[in-house]
Amino acid sequence: MIISMKPRATRQEIEQVFQRIEEFGYKVHSIEGEERVVIGVVGVGDVTACLESVEAMPQVEKAVRISAPYKFVSREFRPNKSQITVDGVEIGGDEFVVMAGPCSVENEKQIMHAAEEVARAGAKLLRGGAFKPRTSPYDFQGLELEGLKLLARAREATGLGIVTEVMSDRDVDLIAEYADLLQVGARNMQNFALLKSLGPCGKPVLLKRGLSSTIKELLMSAEYVVAHGNPNVILCERGIRTFETATRNTCDLAGVAALNELTHLPVIVDPSHATGKRSLVPAVSRAAVAIGADGLIGEAHPCPEKAVSDGAQSLDLRQFAGMMRDLQPWIRLWKEMRVTETAAAV
Ligand code: PEP
Ligand code: MN
Repeated sequence: MIISMKPRATRQEIEQVFQRIEEFGYKVHSIEGEERVVIGVVGVGDVTACLESVEAMPQVEKAVRISAPYKFVSREFRPNKSQITVDGVEIGGDEFVVMAGPCSVENEKQIMHAAEEVARAGAKLLRGGAFKPRTSPYDFQGLELEGLKLLARAREATGLGIVTEVMSDRDVDLIAEYADLLQVGARNMQNFALLKSLGPCGKPVLLKRGLSSTIKELLMSAEYVVAHGNPNVILCERGIRTFETATRNTCDLAGVAALNELTHLPVIVDPSHATGKRSLVPAVSRAAVAIGADGLIGEAHPCPEKAVSDGAQSLDLRQFAGMMRDLQPWIRLWKEMRVTETAAAV
């Protein structure tokens, strides 16, 4: 069950609702928004009796029964899609948002060049890893703080907001100082200590689907971040591991459509990690537009053959600009579809 308090509810009235819920044997999880407090109720008990009792209390606006185990992120909780603003760029609204940049930040020249060119091609946010999760301990691990500083310089030069990965709860404060959107990588999707620590971080979160995670597990991980106080979560389909070897991962595009039914959170697609091959990136990007994703996050590098990580799946900057051009007719259709959907939802 989810209870939404009226905007003017006092602390005492909210506490009284907590108390009533606890009398019914349930536990409470509240999220304190800028405007109002929303209370999630979990546990086993007499739902109907609790719902009717709470609904009658002063300053309770609405109480609704939610059957999904992920409450705050479910469509039942919020029937219309959420818009999440990252450094002035709205995701989940009526613009298809592209985030792009190299897999890793390597040096000043590389990140500056990439930032300028992806911005010119129409990307709205710059990606680049400073802390890198690598399968081998002998591979490049990222420039860490130096990489964050280079991203800050690229941000200053181009005005693009920054998306970069946070791998550990220990680094959240540091990364939140530099990033506009904190990426949780596929390998950390179920790092619960990290997810909890993103609750109070004050920045939106990009949560990538784990290599072997179900849609339900992805939504439960998003629920962790929201239940700990941060409602600004964007989901990312980046391919899952299957028996297929022709692509690095298997892009679960149907999963994007399924997510759009199950959650109000915005969903984007990463065609680079999903395929592992630059030749496949434009086609998968088109498909992401068509299936109703809210945007893309893709890898683009000034010189992919010299990239320290993920060169094979990175577009060069000219190829990235070409892909952005070729996507425009599809994005126009996407916008028409979005306007119709929004009108139907109102
Ligand atoms: C990345 O974005 O470079 C990355 C490591 O992504 P993922 O966690 O999806 O593998
Ligand atoms: Mn990468």
